[in-house]
Amino acid sequence: MAQASKNSRTGSATQKFFCSCGGEVRMKTLFENGKIKNIAECEKCKRLERRPSDFK
Ligand SMILES: [Zn+2]
Repeated sequence: MAQASKNSRTGSATQKFFCSCGGEVRMKTLFENGKIKNIAECEKCKRLERRPSDFK
């Protein structure tokens, strides 16, 4: 725990992505067939993409 500051810069990197509708894209974690799956969802239009960078 004492060494946490060393990697804090990369660990707390929160990139923001925005959908073409202007809504903010949030990451969601889903469980599918026992696997953890991360998807990106627009808060406004509920559009789903595999990656936040797919919102253009
Ligand atoms: Zn949207």
